[in-house]
Amino acid sequence: MNELPISFDDVARAHERLHGVVHRTPVWTSATADALTGARLFFKCEHLQRMGAFKIRGAYNAIAQFTPQQRNAGVVTFSSGNHAQAIALAARLLGVRAVVAMPADAPQAKRDATRGYGAEVRSYDRYAEDGQAVASQLAREDGLTLIPPFDHLHVMAGQGTAAKELIEDVGELDLLLTPVGGGGLLSGCAVTARAMSPACRIVGVEPEAGNDGQRSLAAGAIVRIETPRTVADAAQSRYLGEHPFQVLRQLVQGILTVTDGEIVEAMRFVAGRMKAVVEPTGCLAVAAVLANKIDVRGQRVGIVLSGGNVDMARYAALLAGGAQPA
Ligand SMILES: *Cc1c(COP(=O)(O)O)cnc(C)c1O
Repeated sequence: MNELPISFDDVARAHERLHGVVHRTPVWTSATADALTGARLFFKCEHLQRMGAFKIRGAYNAIAQFTPQQRNAGVVTFSSGNHAQAIALAARLLGVRAVVAMPADAPQAKRDATRGYGAEVRSYDRYAEDGQAVASQLAREDGLTLIPPFDHLHVMAGQGTAAKELIEDVGELDLLLTPVGGGGLLSGCAVTARAMSPACRIVGVEPEAGNDGQRSLAAGAIVRIETPRTVADAAQSRYLGEHPFQVLRQLVQGILTVTDGEIVEAMRFVAGRMKAVVEPTGCLAVAAVLANKIDVRGQRVGIVLSGGNVDMARYAALLAGGAQPA
């Protein structure tokens, strides 16, 4: 095995930095979900996290390690939403200026929240321009430090703290499932599960329309796709990050895909049975289990509900069955 870009030690140190800053979110169980699947399911409730998703973990862990000079100048990023809010909040908590390059068509709730946390928003067209290039230019012009949404070691280590809390709370698992966009969450959680629960299989779930992660693992190299049209707007990344990919190719058993219909079905289950507002991307992992994409019978399965930021009008339309992909 090649050396991994982050270690469990990095995750443990991130966890110390996050102590008292982010919520230790609860782990829920559901007798109905267990009965349906024949498994023992443990849901890590990151939709109840500060700012509504796990992304505050990685963002705070990254900015907290800035040099005084970097703190003085500020941070810049690009994001379809949750990472933007996470950078905005983490920067405010640490007293750092934040600039966010955001797609012009990002959900209004996410744009408002990013501004509400005090960040400056610069809009771009995500079907025509590359967010990373826009942010890189802002970084050069203003001397800002770019913290990308997933391809960054401190971000990955921060995201891994979600799995650390989950396994600390419920003990070893047979299987851990997380959503996949650029692979920051899955890679951090994979390094963590490998250390804390060595026999645990680690599997990612992404939207069928954007199965670049699955194809990348099969090809042994990062596959790039066009921006996928899917209801899972927080998993519309076009490719896995280089650093996450180095972890995923070594530690994960595979990446599954679910259709938009299966995502919405899972969202309905989570709303109706578990009384939780979880955004479409946040339902990827539970959707894979409910749609029988993987055999979980008799197993102890960790599922990350990764976020809950969704416009209420859009959420209602999705539940009613009338919404189109983002
Ligand atoms: C960002 C995000 C993901 C995907 O995380 P990656 O680190 O990009 O793989 C999944 N769910 C939610 C709610 C997110 O905000």
